[in-house]
Amino acid sequence: CGIVGIVGKQPVSTRLVDALKRLEYRGYDSAGVATIDDGALHRRRAEGKLVNLEARLKEQPLVGTIGIGHTRWATHGAPTERNAHPHFTDGIAVVHNGIIENFAELKDELAVAGAEFQTETDTEVVAHLLARFRRDGTGRLEAMFAMLRRLRGAYALAVLFEDDPSTIMAARNGPPLAIGHGNGEMFLGSDAIALAPFTNQITYLVDGDWAVIDNSGVLIFDIDGNVVSRPRQVSSDAA
Ligand code: GLU
Repeated sequence: CGIVGIVGKQPVSTRLVDALKRLEYRGYDSAGVATIDDGALHRRRAEGKLVNLEARLKEQPLVGTIGIGHTRWATHGAPTERNAHPHFTDGIAVVHNGIIENFAELKDELAVAGAEFQTETDTEVVAHLLARFRRDGTGRLEAMFAMLRRLRGAYALAVLFEDDPSTIMAARNGPPLAIGHGNGEMFLGSDAIALAPFTNQITYLVDGDWAVIDNSGVLIFDIDGNVVSRPRQVSSDAA
């Protein structure tokens, strides 16, 4: 399973799939990518191998210079296209590796408040939590912070908000996440190998960290919402 993201200047969909290919060694059963174009979220998803996703993208190309991608190793819900990430709710796109341990409790709570779930995954509660906080008029950063404080379990997350086509948000608690520094572009990946074709300048998130990434850099917060500084390293993983 794996996560990738690009806040770019050039189109991202082909590069997202190429980066996902470099994470194939981790195993997966389905895949998907999402971009923001013309102020709207778009996605393509497919069961099985990345060649299936590539075929889908060939039929229906995805434009956009910001995007996230995912390979899924299903833990909750069958490996179908419907359960494949990214999950979309109210202008929010979410990809996740790991397991949200308290998803059943959150799902009940959100359903009572009117959320309509489209998948059988544990992950979808993340999108609905964010949507609920946004509906209260809460800003994107505050919604991310409030959402993370409700999660129990292991996660690497990447999030796109349709109303901010210049930013990817990410969070880590368990599965690793690496942020890549490019030239006027920024990258996100499960490891530095995924990002090797783009950059060898890497900042690893620490457990509990979450990050706001735009094309000029990254701002990292800890689980208490304090801005933290994490070292930028030169990765030796070869392209
Ligand atoms: N638990 C999530 C799901 O089943 C994510 C699985 C993964 O790590 O790819 O959809």
